[in-house]
Amino acid sequence: MTQKLKTQLFNSPVVPIIILLVFLVGFFLFAAVFEPRFFMFLSIGLAICISYLFVLRDRLIKKQSEIKLWIQNYDEQMNLVEADIAQEQIAIESFREKIVNYSQLKGLTERLSMCLTQEDTSKTLSAEVNRLFGDKDTTIILYLFHSRTGALGISSSQKGQMRINIKSKKGDSFDQWTVKTMQPLLIEDTKSDYRFDVEKIVPQDARDIGSLISVPLMVGNRALGILRIDSSDQNHFTTEDLRFLTTIGDLGAVAIENAQLYERVEQLAIKDGLTGLYLRRYLLERMPEEISRQLRRKNQLAFLMFDLDKFKQYNDKFGHIAGDIVLRTVSMLLRDLFKEPGMLVCRYGGEEFSVLLPDCTQQKALEFAEEARRRISERTIILRREKTRITVSIGVAVFPKDAQNPKELIHKADQALYRAKEEGRNKVCVVS
Ligand code: GH3
Ligand code: MG
Ligand code: MG
Repeated sequence: MTQKLKTQLFNSPVVPIIILLVFLVGFFLFAAVFEPRFFMFLSIGLAICISYLFVLRDRLIKKQSEIKLWIQNYDEQMNLVEADIAQEQIAIESFREKIVNYSQLKGLTERLSMCLTQEDTSKTLSAEVNRLFGDKDTTIILYLFHSRTGALGISSSQKGQMRINIKSKKGDSFDQWTVKTMQPLLIEDTKSDYRFDVEKIVPQDARDIGSLISVPLMVGNRALGILRIDSSDQNHFTTEDLRFLTTIGDLGAVAIENAQLYERVEQLAIKDGLTGLYLRRYLLERMPEEISRQLRRKNQLAFLMFDLDKFKQYNDKFGHIAGDIVLRTVSMLLRDLFKEPGMLVCRYGGEEFSVLLPDCTQQKALEFAEEARRRISERTIILRREKTRITVSIGVAVFPKDAQNPKELIHKADQALYRAKEEGRNKVCVVS
């Protein structure tokens, strides 16, 4: 017999049962031979035992069903706890996501708060949106309404790290939808969205647009523009993305409004309220820069000084408000004539104007001045139902021929102007 068989025999209950049976059979044989009454007692004992076993069985069944109930309760409790844990995990995950979003928004707010101009703010906003949402297939476009015309126009556009040129400057049907409704827009698949007829949508610059999100930029009730991201893939954006972009849009709109206000305040500081022309302060700031630029290029720079003739009489006759209308009319004529880039028209003083003409010879400056004098003198201005006219005297000085610095240039132009007044007004004079 192998060792394994021995161990199995010792571990199984067969051996004790056989021993017990042998012992019982021996006992019964002994009782049958020597004590016949033993069976009567044995039967009574067995009956008691059997009835006790029935009682035990009942208790056991009861206990079993109780245990089953416990197990069921326990399972239910386990399920509830598991569901709670799953919910907690979702909450923790979304909390973690919120922390990430908040820290991203904090960075965005900090960077936007450093921008002072609208151009800077637009660029920063699209760069930040690109940082948070962008990949090689997404295009970010920021549209702003023009402050005077109210027309929608692209302020900044970007694909990946690159700035891209979008041909359709006024937006496509999706942008028009956002402008019309002023609601956030999520299109998971442009080809199957029931709100848009894909056949009628002119593809923007032949770009493939699979999905997009777009939000209006609002400050209070004032709409500033639209912030939009599109992707060539379908189902690229989720409602969570749209919600995040809405928050970014709200922050961006405030930053854009601040920049617009800042620029307006700056303009007010350097521009005249009545005529909209630059003030003398600005001219005096610009002149040294212009002179050194012309010096570097070895070019000439002309300076024209204008003074309205007998304006005091005009004011006395028609009143101060009428005088203001004349000043505005003259400033419009000057702005219209000197509109080339680099030319600078200023309201130098009360009824005095000046024009700075970079890269301009004396001859060319004289021609310009003569043209300005003619246009002003030919312009009829109706005041109190009366047709009136105004004339102007002009002094012309040229750098470096007549003067070596800004102060001298102004002084020489002033002297030439004085001569024009002396010679009968409505006249152009150069430095003699
Ligand atoms: P001259 O031909 O010699 O230049 O005569 P003038 O009357 O133009 O010269 P003067 O300097 O004596 O008068 C300038 C006038 O311009 C006086 C002032 O009332 C008027 N003036 C200055 N600023 C304004 C303004 O903003 N609005 C109006 N309506 N008048 C102004
Ligand atoms: Mg004057
Ligand atoms: Mg005058």
